[in-house]
Amino acid sequence: MRIDFLGATGTVTGSKYLLTHAGRRLLVDCGLFQGFKQLRLRNWEALQMDAAHIDAVLLTHAHLDHSGFVPRLVELGFKGKIFCTAATRALCGLLLPDSGHLQEEEADFANRHGHSRHNPALPLYTEQQARAALKRFEVLPFDEASTPWPGWSWRLSRAGHILGAGSLRVEWDGGSILFSGDLGRSDDIVMMPPDKVQPADYVVVESTYGDRLHPDTDTLGELASAISRTAARGGVVVIPAFAVGRAQTLLHCIQLLKAARRIPDMPVYLNSPMAAGVTDIFRAHPDEHRLSETQCAALQSETVIVRTVEESKRLNSLKYPSIIVSASGMATGGRVLHHLKAYAPDARNTILFAGFQAAGTRGAALVGGATSVKIHGAYVPVRAEVINLESLSAHADREQLLGWLDAQKSPKRVFVTHGEPAAADALRLAIEERHRWQCTVPDYRDSFGL
Ligand SMILES: [Zn+2]
Repeated sequence: MRIDFLGATGTVTGSKYLLTHAGRRLLVDCGLFQGFKQLRLRNWEALQMDAAHIDAVLLTHAHLDHSGFVPRLVELGFKGKIFCTAATRALCGLLLPDSGHLQEEEADFANRHGHSRHNPALPLYTEQQARAALKRFEVLPFDEASTPWPGWSWRLSRAGHILGAGSLRVEWDGGSILFSGDLGRSDDIVMMPPDKVQPADYVVVESTYGDRLHPDTDTLGELASAISRTAARGGVVVIPAFAVGRAQTLLHCIQLLKAARRIPDMPVYLNSPMAAGVTDIFRAHPDEHRLSETQCAALQSETVIVRTVEESKRLNSLKYPSIIVSASGMATGGRVLHHLKAYAPDARNTILFAGFQAAGTRGAALVGGATSVKIHGAYVPVRAEVINLESLSAHADREQLLGWLDAQKSPKRVFVTHGEPAAADALRLAIEERHRWQCTVPDYRDSFGL
């Protein structure tokens, strides 16, 4: 067995691991690179092998940094199936066409306003190409081993990160490797904790928060004071959030706070055409989260769901305290950019992030204290209050990552990926100190024989 690291090295984006054994090739995750331009350009680079020579793709979860390259891979000639859990398929059914649509819009905007250096600017893939790719998806149940090819088997267990998220264990004659996928936390407000997994000979573990512990703070209290403070100033709270997962957690928290009268009764807008669909997916998978049927229903009934572009534009001139939740979570694209243009320049408003901000994204710049950010080719001044409530993150912190690894029995090697360099190296060091296991932080396109 050979593993090639084709993404999520030195970054949290672009997850792609190629396994090659006995004449078969499996691509574990097929994510988009996001953030720094030099990373985003990799989405346009040639793969190191012909896409037609990959036999199958297996997705650990639906977030675009794990699934968003699938339509491109299909366009490049990939002919196989894309395996994932039922909830991942349902979520990709919303996310991938939306991603294609956004890329078409961005290319179109760049062409009309002439701020692209490429002439003409092209989308990486279109909405239609994303829909075509979805026809290749095939559902794998959790906790059931499949034997796709002679000498291979694989099994997904729950990773507790978002609906459908799994850790993947691949076995071949003579060995095994475990991919953590993105790991959720043991104490998440909405998601169930990750499952304990069987030990493996090799482990690939994420390290998003490899150098950090989630603050032991009262998350709801912090959210309440940020919202109340903004309302008292007569401002608007803009929350960039992944439309899938974090948006629902935030809406649930806001409802808890409203019910307990800890925040003023102000309108909450969820500006995402796919949000209603996500609530249905929550309902369809009650065993993966902690929300009751009533709480799922409240996600929709107590929120104003904004679908059309016209309604979305109207949100940019609100005259009273309100909360707007809109994608993308790292402000790399999507409708939230228009809200940032409208609300970032006014000191009464608040921009509240609720998760990890990858280096090179507007989210990271804002959280880092930028006084202006470039949006659609022009600089927008930032005078609004900017907060990052990392305690709302959907990722395990360093202790929780180490705790998950405790189930392993001296693996031959641990590969630390899906982290920025400092985070990945801090987790490597922590693992070596705690367990004395051989630990490697691979580089882009590194290859290892297992
Ligand atoms: Zn994720």
